[in-house]
Amino acid sequence: MENKFAKRAHFVKSSETREILKVTERPEVISFAGGLPAPELFPLEALKDVCNAVLSEEGAASLQYSTTEGYVPLREAINRRMKAVGINATVENVLITSGSQQAIDLTGKLFIDEGDTIICESPTYLAAINTFKTYNANFVEVAMDDDGMVMEELEEKLQKHPNTKFIYTIPDFQNPTGRTLKLDRRKRMIELANQYDVLIVEDNPYGAIRFAGEELPPVKHFDTEDRVIYLSTFSKIFTPGLRLGWICADQAFIDKYVAFKQTADLHTDSFAQRITAKYMELYDMEEHINQIKAVYKERCAAMLSCVETFFPKNLSYSKPEGGLFIWVELPEDIDSTHIFTECLKNNVACVPGTPFFPNGTKKSTFRLNFSNMSKEKIIEGMKRIGEVLNRELEK
Ligand code: PMP
Repeated sequence: MENKFAKRAHFVKSSETREILKVTERPEVISFAGGLPAPELFPLEALKDVCNAVLSEEGAASLQYSTTEGYVPLREAINRRMKAVGINATVENVLITSGSQQAIDLTGKLFIDEGDTIICESPTYLAAINTFKTYNANFVEVAMDDDGMVMEELEEKLQKHPNTKFIYTIPDFQNPTGRTLKLDRRKRMIELANQYDVLIVEDNPYGAIRFAGEELPPVKHFDTEDRVIYLSTFSKIFTPGLRLGWICADQAFIDKYVAFKQTADLHTDSFAQRITAKYMELYDMEEHINQIKAVYKERCAAMLSCVETFFPKNLSYSKPEGGLFIWVELPEDIDSTHIFTECLKNNVACVPGTPFFPNGTKKSTFRLNFSNMSKEKIIEGMKRIGEVLNRELEK
């Protein structure tokens, strides 16, 4: 019956990483493979209180159909948060989505015609690759260094690919590398987008989780021609299970996004939106995020110090100032899928880097997540990965 599928079904396969994650879910495995926030930091007690308040004060409305654009007090609260980082928006500029993953999908639906080029960091977020592939996009990768996407190469690629629709970038503590785009490159990216008349899709789920270094304004802050479509989410600062994200963009774009979202799911979960808005009204979200940052800072430091202590000396790796991930680059002849298999024999897991390259090029990298394991498990797990690396790199 496979011939019954639409053409686009052939562009998609279930994410390899998801398959990998299934194996790592065994309880005896110390897994640095996923990208899950620390569950012990979810504000459970506060949420019991908040759910009660929502149900008693606005119960029927919270369970009723609602507008596609999203709950106004939530959009206002989002705007206050965005204003603090240098994005001035009205409620008309904001659409609440079912996680920023839906925002990514709607972006593909709205902007990508078959064969359009998308320029992205090399490597980039796996689920964005898989989503844009369903729209049959052509990926052009731009190399990164420790300061994010390299602007000279971006310009070259823009020149070479006049059918580029947008630049997809994750400027802060990128998934998978943990790297951050430095300030002058943010400004340069805007100049280039203006010059070559392309859009920028700024996917920014991690910017709020900076635990070291100087705050940087989002790319959207430098937007002079309303070309930046900014995506963000409550997943990393609150809870991913409520599935709340948003798009902030020019109103003409938002109007089209709204039309597409109506065809997808009518609107985002009303109850989740009201719970989140009520939480921000009754509790201190900043204080909550500060707790997350403090824990991740400690875990990241523990993991980096283990890289120093247990891993072979000649490896390069990122030193993130926020977010959830560290990226490790092995000598080019080492296949990280083999490293993954060997690690799993020792009940420890990382994610091999290959799927994060849309054109499948590099095989010698892997991603480590530090948010989801205690410091003790980080030390034990990193020791085990170190043993595998020392053995395999000596061969
Ligand atoms: N973008 C990036 C870069 C991500 O890492 C993630 C989550 N891992 C998402 C988008 C999607 O997040 P959500 O749908 O939970 O908001």
